[in-house]
Amino acid sequence: MADWQDIATHIAAVTGEPFAPRPPRHVGGGCINTALRLGDGQREYFIKLNDAAGLAMFEAEATGLAALAATETLRVPSPLCTGTSSGQAFLAMEYIPLGGRPRGDGAATAGRLLAAMHRASTAEFGWERDNTIGSSPQPNTPERDWVVFWRERRLGHQLQLAAANGYRGRLQERGVLLLERFGALIDHTPVPSLLHGDLWGGNMGFGPEGEPVIFDPAVYYGDREADLAMTELFGGFGGDFYAAYREAWPLAPGYAVRKTLYNLYHILNHLNLFGGGYRAQAEGMIDRLLAEIG
Ligand code: ADP
Repeated sequence: MADWQDIATHIAAVTGEPFAPRPPRHVGGGCINTALRLGDGQREYFIKLNDAAGLAMFEAEATGLAALAATETLRVPSPLCTGTSSGQAFLAMEYIPLGGRPRGDGAATAGRLLAAMHRASTAEFGWERDNTIGSSPQPNTPERDWVVFWRERRLGHQLQLAAANGYRGRLQERGVLLLERFGALIDHTPVPSLLHGDLWGGNMGFGPEGEPVIFDPAVYYGDREADLAMTELFGGFGGDFYAAYREAWPLAPGYAVRKTLYNLYHILNHLNLFGGGYRAQAEGMIDRLLAEIG
């Protein structure tokens, strides 16, 4: 177990202010890491812990949080520092009390702010560094062509992980066919938008003022539809959210089909992380997409 007093020393060094916290409290709800709340009654920090090998993952998460925060759109916890302590890696960030009631039109505000965040753009798809999606590696080597990026760094990459995990046969045969053909579905010239990258309902909440907050990102520059698609994967963010997003930045025709193409990445990732029924779900999505392409 990491030494919380040692982590407090790191935090004090970064902030330049003394920090003598009380013993930490555990925070539940995460999928990958152990989480702690570390505070002295005045200041409070959210600390994630993992094996020492998780340091690069935390460094990438901190860089991603900083990139999202720089857009000054949706609220994001400010990253503070990363490091190792007693053989564990840690990431310290601003603690934001979640579970607030959405302010008036909270869902619509979230939709508008997400569209504004997606306006942050760059020359190529990908990112300055690789990161992780869940605990799977997510390659981000920049690429000008979105179809190539989605084929090689996203779907093809997860299909290769699936083969290495023993998911062969029909999934791979149909998957390879989809890799060859899915370009036909990308007829809307996406720009490289700054994406959260893992925007399911569990990674968004409302802060103390009812403001929408996003956290736990897997940042890269990609087609903004990939972020939107994921919000719909495990439940959806409500009609007001989507209406406000589309009003701020309308979507091109064909999104309803591409949504499945983009969410296939996450379902393949779930297959690789959790196994089970995700194989049948992935095959069903591939079949539907191939039927669309004809
Ligand atoms: P994991 O990386 O293990 O999936 P999360 O980043 O999803 O962990 O965090 C776990 C839970 O802790 C979240 O569901 C959320 O409720 C809460 N949480 C995440 N970040 C913060 C934060 N900065 N401040 C307060 N609570 C947070």
